[in-house]
Amino acid sequence: MLTSPDMEILIVEDEIEIAQLIQLSLEQEGFSCRACHDGLTALHVFQTQPPDLIVLDLRLPGLDGLELCARIRQMPSPKDPYILMLTAKGEELDRIIGLSTGADDYLVKPFSPRELVARVRALLRRSLRQIGITHTYNTQHFTVDLDQRTAYRHWEPNQSEILDITTLEFDLLSTFISYPGRVWSREQLIDKLWGSDFFGDERVVDTHVARLRKKIEPQPTNPRFIKTMIGIGYKFEDPPVQ
Ligand code: CA
Repeated sequence: MLTSPDMEILIVEDEIEIAQLIQLSLEQEGFSCRACHDGLTALHVFQTQPPDLIVLDLRLPGLDGLELCARIRQMPSPKDPYILMLTAKGEELDRIIGLSTGADDYLVKPFSPRELVARVRALLRRSLRQIGITHTYNTQHFTVDLDQRTAYRHWEPNQSEILDITTLEFDLLSTFISYPGRVWSREQLIDKLWGSDFFGDERVVDTHVARLRKKIEPQPTNPRFIKTMIGIGYKFEDPPVQ
């Protein structure tokens, strides 16, 4: 099971009812949660009892989500928590993503508790991989084995095929599959694949996405898995399998 009582989640949300709903949804899944309702209190809680993951509302009284996120990232801490940012519709998701805020993912309100739990699990699964507990990612149609550097496509439940992909395409697929449902900007993908010293045209990402689509999509021109987010970047969609 991925749900671990050792995983501490901090919820920062000024709308009390939403905070309670989030807390209830996560506690039902076995996560241990604390909630606070403004940025300064959150900063204090972060310093005294560092969490593994923070669900952080963008609009907060006092210190807003972006500023809190930046401060947390600069602060020395025994844990480097994942940050899931909550934004309201119309808060210019594209701009927020482009800002490299230090958040790991974004969820647009209104969202369902199920969606929230799925995102939290996806983030914590990445942390399990980093500490060496898991070395593969599984979704309904794909398996990526990071040790063997091999990727499989499952066409039918009992019919799998090793994908013939380049190193770069493997890294791109691994990045996508590490986090189904997350929206990636081109800049974020470049950081992941080439590092922050990349110099060139970010449209290079489109070229590699197009090549990967040809190898994994049933209909590359009408992609089912790697979706284009107009004006933002890309999103990989396939249900994770535990
Ligand atoms: Ca708010």
